[in-house]
Amino acid sequence: PPDVEQLGRSSWTLLHSIAAQYPQRPSPTIQRETSTFMRTFAKLYPCWTCAEDFQNWLAVDANAPRVSSRDEFGRWMCEAHNAVNVKLGKEKFNCDRWEERWRTGWKD
Ligand code: FAD
Repeated sequence: PPDVEQLGRSSWTLLHSIAAQYPQRPSPTIQRETSTFMRTFAKLYPCWTCAEDFQNWLAVDANAPRVSSRDEFGRWMCEAHNAVNVKLGKEKFNCDRWEERWRTGWKD
């Protein structure tokens, strides 16, 4: 399999970028497709132990993808990433700043 760290950085870039361009008012179809995409992504992620843990995290009701708006989805993605950060002993990211990091650029 590819290098787990490089794969992770590239994958988070893709996922947060998708959230950053997500519609502010997504149609019901897009919302459904986005939830399905995240669950399929979790199954196909090419680091098997990572994929298994991420699928288990997603299976908890409270962690179901929140896809009703860009802000909801962006925050949900940030929380998903933080769950992995905590597992790996990394610092948690402040999810109030997800959009600054991934869409609008830092203000300072
Ligand atoms: P990364 O965690 O890759 O983050 C990249 C950048 O995103 C950071 O520099 C920061 O600017 C920003 N960022 C950080 N946290 C957040 C956040 N919460 N919200 C928004 N932006 C943020 N690795 C393993 O070793 N074991 C695993 O089980 C594992 N599971 C993974 C599961 C998934 C679904 C994914 C996508 C990756 C997984 N990884 C796993 C990889 C791991 O998350 C990191 O990508 C990798 O360790 C490299 O870390 P990094 O410190 O370079 O920054």
